[in-house]
Amino acid sequence: MERSVFTEDHELYRESVRQFVAREVVPHRARWEEAGIVDRSLFEAAGEAGFLGIAAPERYGGGGTPDFRYNAILSECLAEADVLAVGLGLSLQADIALPYLLDHCTPEQAERWLPDVVAGRRILALAMTEPGAGSDVAAITTTAVRDGDHYVVNGAKTFITNALSADLVITAVKTDPAAGRKGISLLVIEADTPGFSRGAKLPKVGQHAADTAELFFDDVRVPAANLLGEEGRGFYMIMGHLTQERIAVAVQATAQARRAYELTLEYARQRQAFGQPIGRFQHNRFVLAEMKTETDIAQAYLDRLLLAHAEGTLDAVDAAQAKWWTTELCQRIVDRGVQLHGGYGYMLESPIARAWADSRIQTIYAGTTEVMKEIIGRSLGL
Ligand SMILES: Cc1cc2nc3c(=O)[nH]c(=O)nc-3n(C[C@H](O)[C@H](O)[C@H](O)COP(=O)(O)OP(=O)(O)OC[C@H]3O[C@@H](n4cnc5c(N)ncnc54)[C@H](O)[C@@H]3O)c2cc1C
Repeated sequence: MERSVFTEDHELYRESVRQFVAREVVPHRARWEEAGIVDRSLFEAAGEAGFLGIAAPERYGGGGTPDFRYNAILSECLAEADVLAVGLGLSLQADIALPYLLDHCTPEQAERWLPDVVAGRRILALAMTEPGAGSDVAAITTTAVRDGDHYVVNGAKTFITNALSADLVITAVKTDPAAGRKGISLLVIEADTPGFSRGAKLPKVGQHAADTAELFFDDVRVPAANLLGEEGRGFYMIMGHLTQERIAVAVQATAQARRAYELTLEYARQRQAFGQPIGRFQHNRFVLAEMKTETDIAQAYLDRLLLAHAEGTLDAVDAAQAKWWTTELCQRIVDRGVQLHGGYGYMLESPIARAWADSRIQTIYAGTTEVMKEIIGRSLGL
């Protein structure tokens, strides 16, 4: 299917991203998955190549364009090289966490943080989820009590991407525990602050190179100058940024689905059973026809939303629809891909097996399918 969402500039950019992924990510995949974390040098290389700060102003070393299609290209290139999950920390930094700094930093904070973040010298994490509060963000219990020029932070976060490598953690805290969602604020916590500590890497079903861990805050004194935006506005800032986060995951899911289809098609052409390629059996041909059709439909829909996002008209309901639909589709496609690969599809050495394990979380993080349907349902005026 021809896509019309990208311009010539995007395609030139795609070429350089492809080369970057082949050079800086693919050769290290197995080692990083084994280690459970990528080298920090990946962030520095991505920063140097200009991939981490496309949306940041040029004076901080950024690309100076808010066009999210450039961000989407990085995820697409990672997926086509079977290393989407290895590069997830980059997406967390560029697509999900950086926008908080771009939209809410004071000029002083921007000078302090943005050059290093854009260059990949400082790694970001975004810490909202707690052991007792995931979907229900307003139920977080990590507190930040004002004490002179500081906030004193106590609590814990879990399932945090980039937790072990992060230098700056954008942390959701309760500055007014009695005020529900209106009591949530965002603090940027520097990882060398006394009282801040990290748990062990959490063993996961997939995404083995993405470092995911718990974070602990034990009387962490955070300068009030590290408050992001206004006190009490954190919940609304999070909700505002979830639109892009969800489109980012929809891009990843669609790219992963496409790659699963391509891998499976190739395998079905080569693998012989009963004297012919397995793709020649009508059932399998139909399965592949369905995989292709459904992926193309998802892509066309997503491309329309990518354009809307580039034009600034994408809303939270659009993003919720794209997020649940593409991630659920991705599960179905990778699962069918595993089936057509037979036993090889269950071996971690095969990309389809890794795609199956890596993509399972997509219907859960960045807002579960059920929460997406709540958002859409609430918009229906019922
Ligand atoms: C690999 C990984 C990386 C992650 N990275 C980050 C990160 O970087 N930063 C961060 O803050 N978090 C991160 N998370 C956390 C993730 O966002 C949460 O796991 C997710 O939001 C769901 O929260 P929960 O796990 O507490 O599930 P719960 O909220 O407890 O949900 C459990 C089940 O109940 C359902 N449910 C909840 N509420 C409703 C409702 N109103 N109606 C119907 N059903 C409902 C859910 O859909 C789900 O099926 C990550 C998680 C993983 C596994």
